[in-house]
Amino acid sequence: MTTTEVEAFQRILGDRQKELGIGNREALAVQASPDEMDRIQHFSEREYAMNHLERNSRRLREVQAALRRIDDGSFGVCVDCERSINLKRLAAVPWSSTCIACQEAAETAHADSRVEIEAGDEVAA
Ligand SMILES: [Zn+2]
Repeated sequence: MTTTEVEAFQRILGDRQKELGIGNREALAVQASPDEMDRIQHFSEREYAMNHLERNSRRLREVQAALRRIDDGSFGVCVDCERSINLKRLAAVPWSSTCIACQEAAETAHADSRVEIEAGDEVAA
């Protein structure tokens, strides 16, 4: 990967980190406010808010880990098999820490939870 490419990913990930950081603070404020909790009476809404917060936190950790990998020079290398991650995959999912083969292996291992998470992302977007 060229320096220019790495810098482009660093910018994308930096923006994403800011977005997720702001989103998390808002979600936490909702959780911390008793009035807001009174208004959110339905279990499904509470559950949605919790899932959203959890998903945001997880994504934020992934983005931060990717930024650390840029700093230490291991960005774009699969953490499992140490092969280069396909550039198209990184363009689609810049916080990828594994190559497609390892990702698919992990998805097969955690099929149920992954499907739910990905479906939730679709709705949120
Ligand atoms: Zn791999």
